[in-house]
Amino acid sequence: MIADTAANVFAGVDKKADTNVMIRQCGREPDFACYADQSAIYCREEPLAQLARMAAWLSAETAFLFDKHRGKKGVLNEVPQLSWVDALLLADAEAIDGETVFTQRAEMIMERRDLDADSLNAIYSLVVDIYSHTNNRQAVDPDNQVLLVASDIYQQIMEYAFAFLLGHEGFHYTKDVCEVSRKSRIETNGLVNEVSKMQLKGGYFNPALTLDKNEFRADICGLRWMEKIAENAEADMPAVFDALSKRLAIDLLSAPLLAGYLNSIAVNKLGQAAPKAKLVSGYLYPQSRLILTSAVLNLSEAAYPETVKICNDSAKAMATLMQDAYQSYPKSSGIISDPVLAQLPPGVEKAWNGAMWKEDSFRCYMEKK
Ligand SMILES: [Zn+2]
Repeated sequence: MIADTAANVFAGVDKKADTNVMIRQCGREPDFACYADQSAIYCREEPLAQLARMAAWLSAETAFLFDKHRGKKGVLNEVPQLSWVDALLLADAEAIDGETVFTQRAEMIMERRDLDADSLNAIYSLVVDIYSHTNNRQAVDPDNQVLLVASDIYQQIMEYAFAFLLGHEGFHYTKDVCEVSRKSRIETNGLVNEVSKMQLKGGYFNPALTLDKNEFRADICGLRWMEKIAENAEADMPAVFDALSKRLAIDLLSAPLLAGYLNSIAVNKLGQAAPKAKLVSGYLYPQSRLILTSAVLNLSEAAYPETVKICNDSAKAMATLMQDAYQSYPKSSGIISDPVLAQLPPGVEKAWNGAMWKEDSFRCYMEKK
């Protein structure tokens, strides 16, 4: 599956691409999932496998919602019960021997999400079905609508995530040149500039976390690849499916971007297992990387852009991380510009302007037309 997704992404960016995947021992352990030099892109298998497992959990739940709404646009207003945090905790638990951790986390998630065991079991069996079909490249029974949708969503969101990851590494591989030479919308509309300024002196974030020019440009390249994949998808898929998978890709990428590829699970204030946010010098702030990711997909969304943003639990994590960054840096400008705010639900902006926080603050709604 990992090799197939990588090959699809390379082909989506360059039709003549020839992808060779080899498995070997690591020459050196990369800091993140991957690193690249001029001979190849090297990735550790486990972080990519974990991303794939997360994608399966997110896709499975979304497929049930899609089915409930019969593929109609109302599904875009649904708040999924499993968030990226839950998907990450479950995907992480799947890799741990024995069933104890998995059972504990499943119980914790059911409690905090008000989810019953039958629903979680149904999602889990769909996850297992996704694995067995994609890993064995088996065709899905055309009568199994839910699995068909789940597999399509799974493939699509994996491609978005891999486009960012491989586009970033591809930039290092091709000696700091981006394979996609056309500038993305976030570059031409000034957002990239705006976001990078947030990390300079006088900006929102503490500039003690330095930004390496090449890592920054590698991210921008990954985002160009992602925009390209979004364009291919738009031509092939129905509009609702397209918007839904873009938003889910933002949720999927929340885990590696906010919590790091070598994510660690810690106990939060409520005493629950939760991913730990990770800052790495040389890179954009995790918040900035997620904003840019969201903006690429949002700006390439023609039909339902108001639902393709950082929504629900991803928005909750973002709001918390933005506030933490502000509180821990007394010299912060405190300014979050409008194009950045546009990537968050309208309720978050209202709350930052003094309105009460409500559970609804993190929702993204379709505009009534
Ligand atoms: Zn890099």
